[in-house]
Formats: sequence, C-alpha cells, structure tokens
Amino acid sequence: MKELIFGLIGNPVKHSLSPLMHNAAFRQLKINAEYRLFDIQPQELNNFLHSLSEKDIRGLNVTIPYKEVVLEYLKWQSSEVKFIGAANTLMVKEDKYLAGWNTDGVGFHAHLTKDLKFNPSAKRVVCLGAGGAAKAIVNQLGNCGVKAICVYDLDQDKALKLVEKIKEHFPSCDAKVVDSLQGLDIKNADLLINATPIGMKQTDPSLIDSRVLHPKILVYDLIYNPPITRLLKEAKERGAQVSNGLGMLLYQGARSFELWTGERAPIEIMRGALEEGVRNL
Ligand code: NAP
Repeated sequence: MKELIFGLIGNPVKHSLSPLMHNAAFRQLKINAEYRLFDIQPQELNNFLHSLSEKDIRGLNVTIPYKEVVLEYLKWQSSEVKFIGAANTLMVKEDKYLAGWNTDGVGFHAHLTKDLKFNPSAKRVVCLGAGGAAKAIVNQLGNCGVKAICVYDLDQDKALKLVEKIKEHFPSCDAKVVDSLQGLDIKNADLLINATPIGMKQTDPSLIDSRVLHPKILVYDLIYNPPITRLLKEAKERGAQVSNGLGMLLYQGARSFELWTGERAPIEIMRGALEEGVRNL
C-alpha cells in the first residue's frame, strides 16, 4: 500500500516540532505514513493546494501566514473555523474536496482540563491578545461556560470584534475589552492567558505587573520556546500555578492526527517526542 503523506504548510516552517510528534505516532500505530514540512511561498500556494491528491497528501496542518487564506479552498468548515476565521487542519476527502478544522481551541482545552486539572466553567478569564490563537481559545472557553472574559490587544479593533463575537455566541458570558493593561482586573481572575508573541524573545518584558499576580490564578502562556517566559517566572514567584503552551501544541496535534487517521492518538508517545524536540531546540 502507498505511503500516505501528511504535513505542515507555512512560511517559514523549519523550526516546527510537529513532524517529531506525528511521525512518532505513525510509527507507534504502524501506520504507513509520513509527516513532512512544506515551506510554501505565497505564489506557490494555489498550485500546491490543487495538487494534493496527485502528491498523495491526505492531510495538512496550516501555520502562519496561511491559516486565513486557506478558507477560500475549503468546501466544508467546522464550526470553530467559522467562529475563528482560520483553519489549522485540512483533510483531503474522497472526492478530492478539502475540509477544514481548527484544533487550537480543543488542544488548549484538553491540556487545561486533562493535565492541569482546571475546570473553566464559571471562571473569570483575562486574555492578552485577540489574534488567531486567542479566538480559538476564547471560543472554546465560551463553550465551557466561563463566567467572564476580558480581552486586551494592542490593536483595540481586533479586541472589540472578538468581544462582539463572544457576546453574540455566548450571551451569558460577561465579555469586555480594556484599552490598557492597567484596566485588567487580574486580582479577581482565575485564569490569565498570554496569546501575544510577547515573551518569545529572552529580552521581552512581561506585559503584566507581577504585583497583581496571586496564588489563586493559573497563568497560561501559549509560548513554549523559551519554556519559561518572564511572565511565567514572575507568576511562579508570586505563587501562581503556571503553564507554557507545549501541552496545547501536543493536544492540537493529537486532534489533527485523530481526524486524519480515525485512530486514537498515542498521547504519551507524542508527548515524549515533543519534549525531546524541545530539549534539542
Ligand atoms: P496573532 O494572530 O499574530 O495574534 C497575536 C496578537 O497579539 C495580535 O493581535 C497582536 O496585535 C497582539 N499583540 C502583539 N503584541 C502585543 C502587545 N504588546 N500587547 C497586546 N497585544 C499584542 O498570533 P497567534 O497565531 O494568535 O499566536 C499568538 C501566540 O501564541 C504566539 O506566540 C504563537 O507562537 C502562540 N501559539 C501557540 C500555540 C501552541 O500550540 N502552544 C498555538 C498557536 C499560537 P498586532 O496584530 O497589532 O501586532
């Protein structure tokens, strides 16, 4: 039987850890498949997406800068893709049409509930950032019945649009935007999420004044490289529970794997492969 091909499209993709976790999972389940990296230039995208079947490509993950533009190619979109306006998982269906999902939200939720034992129902959430990842997470948290969500983004329009969507889809959630970091009520929050890229560089500051952090809050930074951002370091020093985003990466990948293969993802094998990958970064 022909080897099935899966992979990641984006630009750039060379630092991705996804091949490690997916190829480890294929080996574990003895599936004749390979996960590859496809560094695609914008002018190549159209031809690439129209020739997936010829190349025996059955499924793709999508990263920056194509998560939004791939929507034009989808004949079917999951409800998450419709809410977020971006897809990170594509599947080539039998009659060659493309279907799209966004597994970031479920990935975040699985990590939050299974590994961190945090139940978001009726909790107060502060979200830094209103980009693609924030939208996926907020949609998931809305579905879980969080009590309140407060969003801050440098681009206030983006934050306002996201909050409008939350109000429309989750009317019982108290959703609001703040126009400054000082306006965030972190003292009464149960969960603080950093969904901005601030913290990726070792020299990045923390967006939050550590004096407002407290032992009853979970601080979740989507960044996993470096594994401890300044925000996480300071939150830990203040006695808060902290987590980086490696678990989210794991579970969003696991969900993509399950959509493509119909098999239960071997989570611990994938986790081991990712952790080894991070040690070698
Ligand atoms: P994105 O769409 O670019 O969103 C980031 C948002 O943060 C943008 O709206 C940006 O505003 C805003 N921002 C930037 N600097 C800010 C600041 N100083 N204060 C407030 N807001 C600021 O990116 P994304 O795809 O959502 O990714 C966000 C982060 O999550 C990245 O670090 C990414 O690597 C990480 N991520 C992790 C996972 C995982 O599995 N762990 C998955 C997805 C993403 P502007 O547009 O105005 O700059």
